[in-house]
Amino acid sequence: MLAEKLLLHVLIILAPVLIYYIVSDNNRFGKSPFFIGTLQGIAASLCLLFAHHEYGLYWDLRYIPLVLAILYGGPKAGLMVLGSILATRTYLGGEALAFGYISGILAASVPFLFVGIFQKIQSKKKRIEAAVLFGLWPNLIMLSVLIVYLLSHDIYEMKLDGNIEVLIYIISFGVIQVIGVGFASMLLESAIEREKMKEEIRRAEKLNTLGELAASIAHEVRNPLTVVKGFLQLMQKQEKGQNFQYLSLVLTELGRAEAIINDYLNFAKPEFKKIEKFYLYELITDVLLLINPLAMTKGVQIDQYLEKNIIIETDKNQLKQALVNIVKNAIEATPQDGRVSVNLHLRDNQVCLTIKDTGKGMTSEQLSRIGSLFYSTKEKGTGLGTMVSIRIIETMNGKINYASKIDEGTEVTILLPVAKLDSQLEEEKQVG
Ligand code: ADP
Ligand code: MG
Repeated sequence: MLAEKLLLHVLIILAPVLIYYIVSDNNRFGKSPFFIGTLQGIAASLCLLFAHHEYGLYWDLRYIPLVLAILYGGPKAGLMVLGSILATRTYLGGEALAFGYISGILAASVPFLFVGIFQKIQSKKKRIEAAVLFGLWPNLIMLSVLIVYLLSHDIYEMKLDGNIEVLIYIISFGVIQVIGVGFASMLLESAIEREKMKEEIRRAEKLNTLGELAASIAHEVRNPLTVVKGFLQLMQKQEKGQNFQYLSLVLTELGRAEAIINDYLNFAKPEFKKIEKFYLYELITDVLLLINPLAMTKGVQIDQYLEKNIIIETDKNQLKQALVNIVKNAIEATPQDGRVSVNLHLRDNQVCLTIKDTGKGMTSEQLSRIGSLFYSTKEKGTGLGTMVSIRIIETMNGKINYASKIDEGTEVTILLPVAKLDSQLEEEKQVG
């Protein structure tokens, strides 16, 4: 009898979650607290109506919809569910009515108080854990209300067997309740995640078209800019008076505009102009030389362990750009007297380059956002550098991976395909 009731209850509790799962992509209903409140309110009432009646009490899972509504629908939805629980309980009547009221209100209290904190939790797993924890609370309330109720009635006079039976009832109900909340919140979380992913895809699609449009505009703007710059340079050569200074100013600003457009175009579509073979060691030394002044002013020491005979074949300037961005970020993240180490070696027949810093590191949340467009934590950051680097490396059939621990540092690992052996290049040089 009880088992049948329980199965029925599981169905009642899962029904709103499943309905929510189906409707969650509908904007009008999906996130409306009234919708969630109505669904869970009906579920809670049904729980009560089909409750198992024993020891003068109603045994049911009505608090699962209550907790879920408060946590996932907010206070409004919670109030609706609480209202429907109290109303149904009044309708059912019985001598334990007062206990029903008290336990209902107490059970709702803690989730109500902490709903703000719950909704700020980012990680899906933590949210499920928190929901399970909140699911424990109504159990405690039920337990204490029950004990009070049982003590105030004749039941405690029953045989020891009877008391143990009640205890088993309470415990198994508690366990089922907690499992129910956990399971339902897992389902809800996956519905929410699915919704977020859809949103992200929609956004990415928009950005993609927008990006292509912007790239073609940038391309069109670059040509007239080059012409204007050329003629201004000619004019400047003939100028002697005050206009000379104005023209130099105009030219530097034009140069800046050009650089920004180039950066953007580079980001939108890395252009590999000249593919050549070269020693990676030389390129990295170049990059480090270029960036050394920045490291000096920040008081950061750069260590390098570079294997010399590694050759790769790609566009030198693009790779340089990618590395400058990454090393620059590493230096910028590192406090004074910190270290940035650059390590180049061969691993499993692949070029392996690591850039490791002892800087401020990133949280897992930040780490997951790295490389997304315009993501920056710096005041004057553009949020383009990492994105450009990742695109360049990936266009070179390489792989790039970020590992980071907050307050400990970040390690960027770049894997690139290796080109022909050292000696072969030497031979070619001699022949050529
Ligand atoms: P910007 O440097 O203009 O902010 P980037 O795309 O180069 O843009 O970097 C994006 C963000 O990634 C930075 O603002 C920073 O928060 C984070 N980041 C990148 N590299 C590191 C690193 N080595 N250590 C810590 N944070 C980093
Ligand atoms: Mg940067």
